[in-house]
Amino acid sequence: MSDEKTILSIQSFVTHGYVGNKAATFPLQLHGFDVDGINTVSLSNHSGYPIIRGHRMDLQEYETIMEGIRANNFLPSYRYILTGYINNADIVRKIRDTVDEVRKLREKEGKKLTFICDPVMGDDGIMYCKEEVLQAYRELLTFADFATPNYYEASLLSGIDVTDMKTALQAADWFHKQGTKGVVIKSFRTKEDPQKLQFLFSTVAAGGNAPQRFTGVVPYHEGRYTGTGDVFAALLLAFSHQQPMEVAVGKVMAALQELILATRKEGGDGASSLMSRELRVTRAVQSLLNPTTVVEVKPM
Ligand code: ADP
Ligand code: CA
Ligand code: CA
Repeated sequence: MSDEKTILSIQSFVTHGYVGNKAATFPLQLHGFDVDGINTVSLSNHSGYPIIRGHRMDLQEYETIMEGIRANNFLPSYRYILTGYINNADIVRKIRDTVDEVRKLREKEGKKLTFICDPVMGDDGIMYCKEEVLQAYRELLTFADFATPNYYEASLLSGIDVTDMKTALQAADWFHKQGTKGVVIKSFRTKEDPQKLQFLFSTVAAGGNAPQRFTGVVPYHEGRYTGTGDVFAALLLAFSHQQPMEVAVGKVMAALQELILATRKEGGDGASSLMSRELRVTRAVQSLLNPTTVVEVKPM
């Protein structure tokens, strides 16, 4: 049973485009994972477009779905819990109980659960969640094995403005202090080298030693892409299933570069429409599975 490829993935759903569970499920399935999705919202498209229609889950609906999953005894089957866009403080708080419940059920069977929390709250200075959600995430991160904030979310959560490696390290320490074992600050652009994106992976060994840090760079491609973080968290799960996290981080960075290039090649460059910048996940199968680009991940 060492190769249980099963995930409870709590994220958004959109009809058009690739964010949330729409962005995460296909890459994970390519890697052979069974993805049980809870769709925290079912919307026509992501929130960058001028018009959005659809439905947002409330706590009662979340609990109703959980009730069904529990009653059918699916809960102990989940090797991973992955969370993304939720934007509901009650549900974010409730995830702690879900993680607790699955962890206890699996412990009885001598099995492990890994909880990967992508604290989706905003990007590039724009917060698209409610203030109360931020506080709920601070509490939830206490129980996360891994967190994958973007630099803006790392700043919001830690209160440290992430603008360079020094501040990224301080923000990573905030996560560890909170209880998160591993944190990837997925990218930050410095004044010194705006053509590159730096990243930081910081991890604390079980013994509570000083954190181990890893870093690297990828080229910056002009423009804003949506869903990159959702594909990132999904692939981090997939690649780390059988490899050390620092190796996985390099592969994920490489896959994302190739995915963005594939999107640009089909017309989705920085200046193009939102629709053209939807990530072409279906056109980048080889990149998602086994990128040929090499991104060096250096210990610090
Ligand atoms: P989020 O999508 O959650 O805001 P990031 O912006 O850090 O998170 O993007 C996740 C990953 O996608 C980064 O680690 C990087 O590899 C890649 N990426 C995103 N945007 C770009 C870009 N404009 N140029 C190059 N790589 C990018
Ligand atoms: Ca971003
Ligand atoms: Ca994100």
